[in-house]
Amino acid sequence: MKKKTPVTKNDELTATITDLTYQGMGVAKIDGYPLFVAGALPGEQVKLHVLKADKKYGFAKAVEYLTTSPERVAVGKKELVQTGIAPLQHWAYPAQLKYKRKLVVDLLQKAHLSHLEVAQTVGMDEPRHYRNKAQVPAREYQGQLTTGFFRRGSHNFIQLEDYEIQDPRIDEVILAVRDILREFNVPAYNEEKHTGVIRNVMVRRGHYSGEVMVVLITRTKKLKGAAEISAKIQEQCPDVVSVQQNINPDQTNVILGKTTKVMRGRNYIQDQLNGLTFNISAQSFYQVNPVQTEKLYARAVELADLHGDETVIDAYCGIGTISLSLAKAAKKVYGVEIVPQAIEDAKENARLNKLDNLHFEVGTAEETMKKWADNGIKPAVIVVDPPRKGLTADFIEAAAKTAPQKIVYVSCNPATLVRDIERFGEQGYSVKRPLEPFDQFPQTTHVESVTVLERTEK
Ligand code: SAH
Repeated sequence: MKKKTPVTKNDELTATITDLTYQGMGVAKIDGYPLFVAGALPGEQVKLHVLKADKKYGFAKAVEYLTTSPERVAVGKKELVQTGIAPLQHWAYPAQLKYKRKLVVDLLQKAHLSHLEVAQTVGMDEPRHYRNKAQVPAREYQGQLTTGFFRRGSHNFIQLEDYEIQDPRIDEVILAVRDILREFNVPAYNEEKHTGVIRNVMVRRGHYSGEVMVVLITRTKKLKGAAEISAKIQEQCPDVVSVQQNINPDQTNVILGKTTKVMRGRNYIQDQLNGLTFNISAQSFYQVNPVQTEKLYARAVELADLHGDETVIDAYCGIGTISLSLAKAAKKVYGVEIVPQAIEDAKENARLNKLDNLHFEVGTAEETMKKWADNGIKPAVIVVDPPRKGLTADFIEAAAKTAPQKIVYVSCNPATLVRDIERFGEQGYSVKRPLEPFDQFPQTTHVESVTVLERTEK
């Protein structure tokens, strides 16, 4: 027999929000049954209309706020809360920092690791306008090519001009590019019909250098007026040192396609991090919050505690940002990364900074770690900075086989971090100092952190 849920669709009820999910949804518990409420904050008493009631949880809409949280802040633009760009914008920044710490604490508790401590989240002094990169969709809106964003969890397009969390110069360049594309009558991409040309506009800007890269992501190889368009972009925005076209012919949510062509200028921009210079190309990963990244990397290097004679591995090294920071204090650094263009950048970056004690390889971290272990490489420290899905059991096994004293784990997803801490535990590694969250993504629900795992004698 179907078990009855405490509420059913279209019920109206009043409840108090007690928590916020990792996606930023308010949670109200009705006899232990969680109802998720977009936009509602902890402590708020809300009149709810149930939209959907599944077996284990439901969704409700806030129809009226009977009380509001003292931590609620006025939002200039509600679109920014509705999109995935700044879903926590209506919540005071100190509350956001506490919430990010709590997400880590709760995950540890669920994994029976509540004895591990978590430091306060390191936040920004000015938690806005921080992003050095934007990838905005272009769609036809009111008869013309328009840039904006999608409503969260949907493909409903919202027109935007001020993105709040991006470097303001990036917002300006997006608008200049939009206007030039309009002038040349370049059609925007149409997702349903898979027609049109411009899918996305990507803009990157060096925080210190001020150099700007514009990438037009197109469905088609042909971009009518390409030469004139790119010339006009540089003419109107003299700080643009690179204009590129990336071609993505597929019906996919993945933004970048495989082929990138330089339309004008260079194929990279340059920027600095903690005094090191980096070339960054269109396809390479580069941390989006330069102010916080300097703090995060400085801390990761400090925690590695090198004295000049160590071998170090930097797995998931990207363009070598962490590798180069480590190389200054190590004998030799090995880096591995899956994107070939990023490894080209990493090698060039070592040369640019006159460092000759680095070795970079293109490959999967899993296979390369195993190879290095088989070849008898004995690192004192392994730094890992994997994507959201975290490490694999194979990687962890291979890493442990090389018997480093320490693993410095930079994580952008606390759920996989906690899982990996457990797996490292089985290999004789444990966490002895507090996990340290860093707020790389203010106004969003993303949580970055750095954790040290130390070898306990086996
Ligand atoms: N440490 C770098 C990059 C971190 S992002 C920095 O802070 O800038 C994670 C990186 O892992 C990305 O560059 C991504 O391309 C790479 N990557 C993803 N899966 C991988 C895999 N299986 N093996 C190696 N690298 C991978």
